[in-house]
Amino acid sequence: MAGPPAQGVTTHCPYCSLQCAMTLTPREDGAGPVLEVTGAAFPTNRGGLCEKGLSSAELLAHPDRLTTPLVRDARDEPFRAAGWDEALHRIADGLTVAQERHGPDAAGLFGGGGMTNEKAYQAGKFARVALRSASIDYNGRFCMSSAAAAATRAFGIDRGMPFPLADLARADTVLLVGSNPADVMPPAMRWFAEGRERGAQHVVVDPRRTATAAASDVHLQPVPGTDLALANGLLHLAVRHRLVDTAYIAERTTGWPALRRAVRQYWPDRVERITGVPVPAMERAIRVLAASRATMILSGRGAEQHAKGSDTALAWINLALALGLPGRPHAGWATMTGQGNGQGGREHGLKADQLPGYRRLADPAARAHVAGVWGVDPEELPAPGVSAYEMLDRLGTAGGVRALLVMASNVAVSAPHAAHVRERLQSLDFLAVTDIFLSETAELADVVLPTTQWAEENGTMTNVEGRVLRRRRATDAPDGPRSDLTVLADLAGRLGRGTFDDDPRTVFEELRRASAGGTADYAGVTWERIDAEDGVFWPCPSTDHDGTPRLFADGFATPDGRARFHVVHHRDAAELPDDEYPYRLTTGRSRAHYQSGTQTRRTKALLDAEPEPAVEVHPDLAARLGVGEGGDLLLRTRRGSARLRAHLTTDVRPDTVFAPFHWAGEQTINDLTNPALDPVSRMPEFKVCAVALEAAGQREGSR
Ligand code: SF4
Repeated sequence: MAGPPAQGVTTHCPYCSLQCAMTLTPREDGAGPVLEVTGAAFPTNRGGLCEKGLSSAELLAHPDRLTTPLVRDARDEPFRAAGWDEALHRIADGLTVAQERHGPDAAGLFGGGGMTNEKAYQAGKFARVALRSASIDYNGRFCMSSAAAAATRAFGIDRGMPFPLADLARADTVLLVGSNPADVMPPAMRWFAEGRERGAQHVVVDPRRTATAAASDVHLQPVPGTDLALANGLLHLAVRHRLVDTAYIAERTTGWPALRRAVRQYWPDRVERITGVPVPAMERAIRVLAASRATMILSGRGAEQHAKGSDTALAWINLALALGLPGRPHAGWATMTGQGNGQGGREHGLKADQLPGYRRLADPAARAHVAGVWGVDPEELPAPGVSAYEMLDRLGTAGGVRALLVMASNVAVSAPHAAHVRERLQSLDFLAVTDIFLSETAELADVVLPTTQWAEENGTMTNVEGRVLRRRRATDAPDGPRSDLTVLADLAGRLGRGTFDDDPRTVFEELRRASAGGTADYAGVTWERIDAEDGVFWPCPSTDHDGTPRLFADGFATPDGRARFHVVHHRDAAELPDDEYPYRLTTGRSRAHYQSGTQTRRTKALLDAEPEPAVEVHPDLAARLGVGEGGDLLLRTRRGSARLRAHLTTDVRPDTVFAPFHWAGEQTINDLTNPALDPVSRMPEFKVCAVALEAAGQREGSR
């Protein structure tokens, strides 16, 4: 590796799917060399960064940073520092022994949505070729899988946004369902603000009055878990008021007659009873939505992280299609993806049922193509495996994974029913984790490998728009950590199953060949083009193809080129309030923190901004519970409990409390969440469960 660049290097933020561009410039700060972070000009963020991006370089030289492999000789013994050879030998041995005793699927890999395309691709190949195991999935399953399943069914393709982010500024109306970009993606708000300056109207559907909702023209505040009924109710009103686009429906869709009949059941009074949204508010919303054909409907995790998340996303797509939006300029449906490379992760093989290029593992032609690139017999490739939570739920059991390699994911905090997942991790015969810090998952491992960070490596990421971006090395890694690509190449060699390259550019060239002809076709994407063109939008099947910033102008990716309506019906949340658990708990992200908090809980600026989590409680409910501002509240569900400081606010419904999920220990909110799964996407029901609340006194030092 060459020495660190002396000049500023432009790369992208290590956090969310907006992937803001930033310049990292070396400077001295008295204590030694540091990298200064400044926002860089780019079509998505135009120099803007949020506080997470601005503080991201602090972690490069953080004192908690892992710099040497850690092993332990027994689970009840502490870690000791080890050499790379010993640590990698232990992992190869753990995986091999599990497979010899229990079969190939007993060794598994769990990946993360922050991994580069090259790492995601190589991890997928490692599971299928080096391990010959079906046991692979990733935490992106917990993020966008419901929207992905819905988009694939309706449009024949899953790309978070089928248009560039900047198109938001040209829309006359934007509806956001369960998405709060003002807090989680502040630089994206410039496009919303530009629209407002042109007179655009914004409608927000969210059980909380978030910062995004507070700035909207219309805020609908449904009971958590009833978005599907609301979408059907709005479609009912659109039909009743003759606001649907009959010409578009006739020319560009199939399935309308059945859906039109189905939504007759969603008359306004009934929908008000289900959702709690008053009829006049629904009437106003549909008038605003149908006032222009330049209308966008954007969904987020609030609508999608449910046991009916894929049907809910389909219900909003149905509304978008009935109003004639997808494929029109500055219009359509999109999902605001979450993790930095959740999109690229599933496109290139981290998901249990997918091969590179968004090919289906169950499709013989897809298997033959990818096996050809990998130089193996298609028959050797495993069948599709089970989804993320199903894999975690069965760890250590007969038929489940016995030896697991976790890369860049902290499932001990981020998985639903997390206490159960920690128990399952502890039941494994062998657990290895690669990470930059000793995360709560790494604490449970037999072997922990220190990895390089984003600013220390090259590669590509695919952002919320489907734009492939370059991650560029801006500094050297400290002595000790290695890239996950190097770890996978070494392990494949020790397992004796193929030669894996660890050079990211070489891996990307192979990825291009493997994706060629697939839905997510990267064949025409090169690192040089990404540099020259501010990223390239897939599909891009050849180097003389322009890439595809906007999908659906001429047709949909279905066999007949038409989008498909789907009849979807409301059903109750998997768990409803009752006498024992009388309230609803919903969860989400806060402004200063990210995912399981492994990084942001170690960042001074972010801890200063938000040193601990708070549960949002309506003042009426707080009065009934006898808890005041800053008092402790004990939250209990059928799965576990957590203790958080109360924040009293009218921003939440009186029947619902909201808590962020970035914290561990007694503040692990995912110890409470419900792992009930969507039947299609296998998304857990993170966003609603029944909860009991109890005042737990004033904590010492609390405000
Ligand atoms: Fe990073 Fe997302 Fe913040 Fe941009 S919005 S700086 S990508 S965390």
